[in-house]
Amino acid sequence: MEKSKRKIYLDHASATPMDPNVVSAMVEIFKKDFANSSAIHDLGVETKKILEQARKNVAEILGAHSDEIIFTSGATESNNLAIMGIINAGKINLLQGPWKGVSQTIAKSSFFPHLVTTNIEHSSVLETCRYLEETKQAEVTYVPIEANGIVSPKKIKKAIKPNTILVSVMYANNEIGTIQPIREIAKEIRHYKKTKSKQQKAESYPLFHTDATQAINYLPIKVEKLGVDLMSFNGSKIYGPKGVGVLYIKRKTPIGKIMQGGDQEFGLRPGTENVAGIIGLAEALKIAEKIKEKEVKRLTKLRDYFFMELTNLQKQNLKFSRVLGLDPDQLENFDFVFAVNGDLKNRLPNNINITISKIPSDLLVLEFSAREIYISEKSACKSGEKKGSYVVKAISPKSSGSLRFSLGRQTTKADIDYVIKSLSEILKKLKKWYH
Ligand code: PMP
Repeated sequence: MEKSKRKIYLDHASATPMDPNVVSAMVEIFKKDFANSSAIHDLGVETKKILEQARKNVAEILGAHSDEIIFTSGATESNNLAIMGIINAGKINLLQGPWKGVSQTIAKSSFFPHLVTTNIEHSSVLETCRYLEETKQAEVTYVPIEANGIVSPKKIKKAIKPNTILVSVMYANNEIGTIQPIREIAKEIRHYKKTKSKQQKAESYPLFHTDATQAINYLPIKVEKLGVDLMSFNGSKIYGPKGVGVLYIKRKTPIGKIMQGGDQEFGLRPGTENVAGIIGLAEALKIAEKIKEKEVKRLTKLRDYFFMELTNLQKQNLKFSRVLGLDPDQLENFDFVFAVNGDLKNRLPNNINITISKIPSDLLVLEFSAREIYISEKSACKSGEKKGSYVVKAISPKSSGSLRFSLGRQTTKADIDYVIKSLSEILKKLKKWYH
């Protein structure tokens, strides 16, 4: 087995390496600015200043105000805070305050909140929704995505009911990389609110949250333009540190805390701030924004080259077929069939997700790993589960598995060539057992 000259890491959707500038910025903090940012002595004041500057920098990049940025422990916490926080705000006083946007008739009767989301959200959104259902705190509609992995904004609008308080749709999917039409969904919600407000004087609900974790590196992130009230992301997917995240919360959004403790982060997120992590995230965001345009162009070319080369494998006597969203098991006549999961164009520039029929995906991941190529099957958060990816199954119910190659800043054309060559070898090797 030929070894590559260097390890080829194609799992950037799970975790990105840290940018050296991010590391340097964090090391400085570890060395000097260890004081608690809530302390009133000079060292604490200095740390607080650094923290607030980072908040300002993050806010500027998002086109937001500093007091709209809440630092958390990661995107999981940001998603939990967004969803449960909106529910909690309502519980504090059903008839006044936060719920005043909801029709008084609804508020007076036994008001039961409703959430709208999709069936391909990250587990931190889906499990939070399920928890709220199980504990009878809310009802949830999971709008199924279309065969191309994209949700229809019209279907989102159709799912909204008078008691809908929140719509949560991810900006880009972590497994199949499909980009969701956030602006269009925001428009539908605005339209719904306008028509509703005439009869019910309800301006503020439903609120709109997006999990932008996978989108930050590649897509426009000005919150005003996106039309969102809440937006989550983390440091670990943008070449920053793990264990730190952001929740953007638009001013005047009714939200309650979900953890009890100190009054850090505008009283919304107790606990001593992870200043080094926050500085790292802010630095990583700045770099990501600076190189975004160039990286999008470069990676889009590489991604499309990858798809083209996969198709070319056909010529090497392995009968491949490029089929979008089709159940590979239907095509018995082929040695192996590969299907691209998700829309070919409306996907992140670094995402290639395919299903190869007949061969178990975990075996393929391990075969690649033996060749020092690191890819994944599905979301790392779900890798302990035996079942295939729920995201891939949402577009192709009988799908037999999936492989995700997620490219990054270090990925070159030579890497793609080596990966394709390795895939061809792996399939030739496994053909005798799996044909
Ligand atoms: N949302 C999405 C779309 C993600 O990809 C991830 C990371 N796998 C998360 C949320 C959770 O992020 P964290 O690990 O920072 O909690």
